[in-house]
Amino acid sequence: MSFQKGNKFGVGRIPWNKGITGYRIHKNGTGFQKGCIPWNKGKSTPKGENANHWRGDSVGYWGIHTWLQQHYGWADKCEEKDCPGKSTKFEWAKLKNKPYQRRRDNFIQLCKQCHNKYDDVLRRGWITRKLAKKTWHG
Ligand SMILES: [Zn+2]
Repeated sequence: MSFQKGNKFGVGRIPWNKGITGYRIHKNGTGFQKGCIPWNKGKSTPKGENANHWRGDSVGYWGIHTWLQQHYGWADKCEEKDCPGKSTKFEWAKLKNKPYQRRRDNFIQLCKQCHNKYDDVLRRGWITRKLAKKTWHG
C-alpha cells in the first residue's frame, strides 16, 4: 500500500504512520486501517486469504447474521443442552473455533442467558491468547 497525492490523508501531509514499523492493530471496529503493517507480512500465504479473513471479522459479522435471519429466521430456541430455560430471548451465536462463514453448521441458537455465558468463556479464551486488544463480538 503506497500513499499517493489526493488520498484521504491529504496532499503534503506526513502520513500518520510514517516511520512506524511493526505490528499494529487499531481499535476502530474494522480491524486493520489503511497503512497498517499486515501481521503476515513476509510470510508466504495464499493470496487474499488472510485479508479476507480479517475483513470478515467485522464486515462479515452483520452480513452473516442478516443471512442467518433471512434463511433460518430469528432464533426462537436455545440449543444449549444445559440451558436453564429462564430466558425467552434467543439469538444466533457463532460456534467457538468456527469462522464467520455462511454455514448453518457454524452457528447455534442460544437464549440470552446462555449466549452471555458462552461469550464470557470466549472472552476469557481471547485474553489467554493475548488478543484481548482486538474488538470481537461473536
Ligand atoms: Zn439457553
